[in-house]
Amino acid sequence: MAELTKLELLGWLRESHPGKLQALYERANAVRKQRVGDAVHLRGLIEISSHCRRQCMYCGLRQGNRGLTRYRMTRDEILDCVREAERLGYGTVVMQAGEDDALTAEWIAEIVRWIKRETMLAVTLSLGERQHEELQLWRAAGADRYLLRFETSDMNLFRAIHPRRYAGAPDRLTLLRQLKELGYEAGGGVMVGIPGQSFESLAQDILTFRALDLDMIGIGPYIPHAATPLGTGALRPPIAPSDQAPSSEEMVYKMIALTRILCPDANLPSTTALATINKADGRKRGLRAGANVVMPNLTPTKYRSLYEIYPAKACIEETAAYCSQCLRGQIHSLGRFTGRGPGGRGACETPAGAMLDASKQLVQLQA
Ligand code: SAM
Ligand code: SF4
Repeated sequence: MAELTKLELLGWLRESHPGKLQALYERANAVRKQRVGDAVHLRGLIEISSHCRRQCMYCGLRQGNRGLTRYRMTRDEILDCVREAERLGYGTVVMQAGEDDALTAEWIAEIVRWIKRETMLAVTLSLGERQHEELQLWRAAGADRYLLRFETSDMNLFRAIHPRRYAGAPDRLTLLRQLKELGYEAGGGVMVGIPGQSFESLAQDILTFRALDLDMIGIGPYIPHAATPLGTGALRPPIAPSDQAPSSEEMVYKMIALTRILCPDANLPSTTALATINKADGRKRGLRAGANVVMPNLTPTKYRSLYEIYPAKACIEETAAYCSQCLRGQIHSLGRFTGRGPGGRGACETPAGAMLDASKQLVQLQA
């Protein structure tokens, strides 16, 4: 099963028989349990700025959206969130933002150095397509991981929905390879159900995750935003209706399950976008289909609704402490437990906080 061909992937992506799909999710869940264990890692998300210089056709933070009130968190606000992550027992903080020029390389590096000096937390950055020297500086400052979804492996579609910033700019696949060379754990991923995205290109996305040997893979539904050209329908990438992949939750579960089977030791989040389209149990169903990570929001409540990538985002009213409690409850209800360490790729943690390596040998006891 780990050697699924593109044709077989395509067959699964078009499958609609409930019994067969249930068997697929159970298979992926078993691979997840065997390869990365029952721990669900908590990555505290801090949305540090909603300013963006880009014009992505799908995203509410695009520069052209004049209706959005923009914010940028101060250093002290960010450090308060980091301390909150420690208090809540998270292993990682993720600093995410639009591509914001005012977040200078040195300003970010200084915050990363502070976190690595003062806490035991792993640091993930998700700040868009930045210069190689900037990525290098942040890695030297101690950043552990970088998230940069490539959105779709269909390059024609990608170019249509994600205009280049300048001629000759490296594409996201190139940047992901550079991130790995710099020693980051590299996270890619895609949106599912983008107008113009075919079933076949989704199959190719999974093969691309594997070819890039990604450490983290974020998969979520595309959710239309009315202040974007893709959301209003002003941009309509051409596709035959029978080829168009839906942005349904089922489609996302299939993508997560197939990705778990082909990339067995990668970290796979059950995303906020999934929780947005099924607020009742989207996150839990993602975790049952092969995911092993969740990203509770640490952003101060006054900023949350302003980081409006797509409308009606889940968890924008709740406090960080409430999100932590709620997610822990969901994880325990599945018979799983929350990871205590940084939860890097392939980490297999026992409920007591001990770590097993890939051959299930005890390698390190957590304090
Ligand atoms: N600016 C950084 C970047 O582009 O990588 C990080 C922030 S960006 C908002 C994070 C992710 O949000 C994108 O990679 C994209 O997959 C997702 N996203 C943006 N607009 C979306 C939409 N309308 N529906 C679902 N996900 C969306
Ligand atoms: Fe900016 Fe990222 Fe949104 Fe594109 S996806 S507009 S780079 S925040």
